[in-house]
Amino acid sequence: MTTSENPKPKIIWLNTLLFTITFLITVIAVPWYGIVHGYSFGLWLALVATIGFAGISITAGYHRLWAHRAYDAHRSLRILFALGGALAVQNSALHWSSDHREHHKHVDDNDKDPYSAKRGFWYSHIGWMLREYQASRYSDYNNVKDLQQDPVVMWQHRNYLLLTLLTTIGWPVALGLLIGDVWGAVLLVGVARLVINHHTTFFINSLAHIWGKQTYTDRNTARDNGVLAFLTFGEGYHNYHHIFSADYRNGIRWWHFDPTKWLIRVCSWFGLTRNLRRTNGYQVEKARLEMQFKRAKARVATANETAVQKLHDEFDELMQRLRAYYQARKQLLDGKAKAFAEHMHVPTREEMQVKVDELRAAFEEHKRAFRQMLRQQLTQHVS
Ligand SMILES: [Zn+2]
Ligand SMILES: [Zn+2]
Repeated sequence: MTTSENPKPKIIWLNTLLFTITFLITVIAVPWYGIVHGYSFGLWLALVATIGFAGISITAGYHRLWAHRAYDAHRSLRILFALGGALAVQNSALHWSSDHREHHKHVDDNDKDPYSAKRGFWYSHIGWMLREYQASRYSDYNNVKDLQQDPVVMWQHRNYLLLTLLTTIGWPVALGLLIGDVWGAVLLVGVARLVINHHTTFFINSLAHIWGKQTYTDRNTARDNGVLAFLTFGEGYHNYHHIFSADYRNGIRWWHFDPTKWLIRVCSWFGLTRNLRRTNGYQVEKARLEMQFKRAKARVATANETAVQKLHDEFDELMQRLRAYYQARKQLLDGKAKAFAEHMHVPTREEMQVKVDELRAAFEEHKRAFRQMLRQQLTQHVS
């Protein structure tokens, strides 16, 4: 435990030097080399591809596959993620997942969440890795026993240093030799690439807990943010992720920028991923409406009892409609109608579809009216 009276924990020099030196090289030597020598188009392409490979290995592999078990992946894909994760230099998948599960379990708890956002931007972004804040936990892998059964995870964990050196140094050097610019490749694809991968991932722990909307819950600091999603391969929908963390998606609408979700989905068409877990639409809609209701209630003056009561009544009715719609939808999907067809008259599939459509339309209409009412409450309150 660290309190202000206690001396600060010991500095972790390896991390501190790694972050400092790579950052300084990126802001000084990388532009200098670009001005003096220039970087070829091939190197820029390699930079983008390497950022993508390392980044998505963290989001699809370390995060959604291993830390959350949101889907299952073929061994070949897991090996790729293990290599890309080593290239991202964020410790082994086992260690990363252990930290991350603590983060979800104790989110915002300054003593137990390894990168608690309540300790500020710097701490949650990078500070937590610079000192031995949770030294007692470093080799405690009790919360990732399931991952210890995965031979790919354990292989990467045992050979982490070797794999990291091979991927982070070996790859840029080999590329440099191939295109005849070793220094250019090491600076751009080696060092600058690492710094970009590092800080974009770190944003998920820092900015995604500070900047954005609390669409589904305000029980923790996590935020939904489309800009961050763009920088983090879809991980910016962090409010959704913290409430429905078993879901393989973070951005759930088709237009949400979530390339990690798209990759997992596309891989499923080729049998590379299986058992993609999704949260029931009812739970998602319910959480969202409850949050809107909660906000509206806070805005309406408590003295205005009739307004609060009306809000409650409308919300209850909306919830009933939501339940009715999803129940009918589930029946339709389960094909229950078929199972009972021989014993009694049950609606046909077409009749069920009509019912589902009707209930959905009724729900959507009621939702619109509810939102309208929330807006009116707000303008009344403001004026
Ligand atoms: Zn988080
Ligand atoms: Zn997570």
